[in-house]
Amino acid sequence: MGCKPTLCHCGKLLDGGNPQGRVVRPRAGELTVCVRCATVFVFLDGGELEPLTAAQLEELPGNAIRAIRELRRVIEARRS
Ligand SMILES: [Zn+2]
Repeated sequence: MGCKPTLCHCGKLLDGGNPQGRVVRPRAGELTVCVRCATVFVFLDGGELEPLTAAQLEELPGNAIRAIRELRRVIEARRS
């Protein structure tokens, strides 16, 4: 499954990216974070991205929440 490029509400085009040169083939249910505004998205069956709702965010396991917090800290540090 490829990622269907999706425009984040902040204006950043989310295209799955290729972190460290690797080709990423996301699976449905996997999460990604916008590198500009740190919004959390989930991959759907067809590769589309949908932003997580506040309720969905609260249901995430602790390790995912810690990873998202760390990413947000990095993104905000880079902005300032
Ligand atoms: Zn964004």
